[in-house]
Amino acid sequence: MLHPFSLDNFTAGGFPPEPTQSPAHWFIFCGKQLLIKRSPNPPLAQIPYSLGLDDLELKAEKILFLGKSQQTPCYGAILAAGTPPPLDWLFVSLRQLYGQLDEHLFAIAGRAFQMMEWHRTHQFCSCCATPLVSSSTTAKHCSPCNLRYYPKLSPAIIVRVTRGDEILLARSPRFRPGMYSVLAGFVEPGESLEETVMREVREEVGIEVKNICYFGSRPWPFPNSLMLAFSAEYAGGDLRPEPEEIEAVAWFTKDALPEVPGPLSIARTLIDAFLASA
Ligand SMILES: [Zn+2]
Repeated sequence: MLHPFSLDNFTAGGFPPEPTQSPAHWFIFCGKQLLIKRSPNPPLAQIPYSLGLDDLELKAEKILFLGKSQQTPCYGAILAAGTPPPLDWLFVSLRQLYGQLDEHLFAIAGRAFQMMEWHRTHQFCSCCATPLVSSSTTAKHCSPCNLRYYPKLSPAIIVRVTRGDEILLARSPRFRPGMYSVLAGFVEPGESLEETVMREVREEVGIEVKNICYFGSRPWPFPNSLMLAFSAEYAGGDLRPEPEEIEAVAWFTKDALPEVPGPLSIARTLIDAFLASA
């Protein structure tokens, strides 16, 4: 399934073009915020499309060639903490830009953010403190320990549980008031994805599920998750929400759904597929 923030048409890595040869997309971060310009029309935010940081009178601590979007080079850059944005530009958290930036560029921004964070937080071997050497665009190496480091990814499952014509939706205390969603949780070492689905549903709401089917996946760069979505059917047990994680849970029919997540999330895609089902 192609998700809305697809890296389709993006070729990662490779050799950067000669500087100043052609304009590039610039993903410029200060901390966890991306440099954008507000636009009155969708997409509502734009990133710099320019020959380099000099155009914006900015100086980067690190610049990383990310790859090409069709034929346009893409660069990531990190600015020193506290750098003020150029006139007419502003820094906005990537999460706030969800749905406001061109979808394809948002996908690259997610990759840019994770790659730059990985470079920033993996400069030395965590066993012997030797400076790491890049062995490819997505691997670093410590020679004394013969250890390799890769960008961190945290797989998480998200599951839509149904019982006949009802869907199970729950509320985390962290959700905005009134909103319900499907269940989700991180994969633990040694688990298959199906086991994670069964454990998370059991831990969070106390029921058993069956007929677990893969639905689709979506990168979620906040900060480095990969969401793997499933559907499952109720198999038994009574709803017993885990008080720390779930403040309310219930079965809902299509005509009486509570408020659910926004249209760009994979949770919403799962719920929409339930609504579209016969
Ligand atoms: Zn080492």
